[in-house]
Amino acid sequence: MKNFFSGILLQWYEENRRDLPWRNTTDPYLIWISEIILQQTRVVQGMDYYFRFVERFPDIQSLAEADEDEVLKYWQGLGYYSRARNLHAAARDLMTRFGGCFPESYDEVRSLKGIGAYTAAAVCSFAWRLPYAVVDGNVYRVLSRVFGIDTPIDSHEGQKRFAELASSLLDKTHPDLYNQAIMDFGAIQCLPQSPDCLFCPFRDKCEAYLQGKVAQLPVKAGKTTVKPRYFNYLDIRCGDRLLLSRRSAKDIWQNLYEFPLIETERDMEWQELVKEQQFLELFQHIPEVKVQRQYPVFKHVLSHRIIYARFYTIEVSKFTSAFSAYLEISESDLEKYAFPRLITLYLEKSDRQ
Ligand code: SF4
Repeated sequence: MKNFFSGILLQWYEENRRDLPWRNTTDPYLIWISEIILQQTRVVQGMDYYFRFVERFPDIQSLAEADEDEVLKYWQGLGYYSRARNLHAAARDLMTRFGGCFPESYDEVRSLKGIGAYTAAAVCSFAWRLPYAVVDGNVYRVLSRVFGIDTPIDSHEGQKRFAELASSLLDKTHPDLYNQAIMDFGAIQCLPQSPDCLFCPFRDKCEAYLQGKVAQLPVKAGKTTVKPRYFNYLDIRCGDRLLLSRRSAKDIWQNLYEFPLIETERDMEWQELVKEQQFLELFQHIPEVKVQRQYPVFKHVLSHRIIYARFYTIEVSKFTSAFSAYLEISESDLEKYAFPRLITLYLEKSDRQ
């Protein structure tokens, strides 16, 4: 009953495939890098990042030998920096455990840091034609619609059901083409909004289309709660010197750089901020703190957080001992540091980069 699926899909792919640089290779390293980048961004934007990244780190060894700071710098703007850190850690692990080569078994690929079921299936099927089906957002959407499945894709039951279905549909003689085909089909034809049902080869078989349920599938059970956070950044200057700190806690943007930060429970204006304990400690030896410039609140949306950020430019005559926890750099060195997108937005706005 399901046999129609891969035949139609592969025929569609033959006529509609996207010519992407990482499709013309069986090098697992290049496939891995492209897949991780594409989890962050769309193909068009991802292309630039991909070329820049593999030009600088053309193989496992060059990535493993690089400083984490430099890897993060090449990732800057893509978000989810833990993925870049995992790439780096996995490259080092590949050097230690596998002599700098990718292992050719699914379980060993899956054992690398940051490589989940989806990436392992992509690497193994594209590089070695191993019969593992990819299951990502595109696949959930296509399968839930074509087969009319309303089990929530974010439930344990749903994940199991879709993984089994995907595996049973996989064309085991062409797992590479099949996986690329279903990814492209979800990205080009069966889009989340306005799928092109009119010219779809599954039109007379697609349960969602036949039952008028296209817009309702796939089903998601839980909504993620988005928590607000309030950041007050102090861009403290002394001539052309300024202060940075490196985020190290188990929190967003781990190991990226930022300005001295005071996080508050709610949004605060300057008059309130100056009464905060952290502020008083920081400026205890400076009798009068003058703000040179302040900016409208930046609203920065992440997957589980909304950050409301205020930035203040403050000029001081010297960096006192209260600032010793921060890294003092010269303005011309700003570009050497990897910042979260929020900070680069500020730097752009303040004409500093
Ligand atoms: S008919 Fe529409 S909903 Fe069904 S697979 Fe085709 S594009 Fe997707």
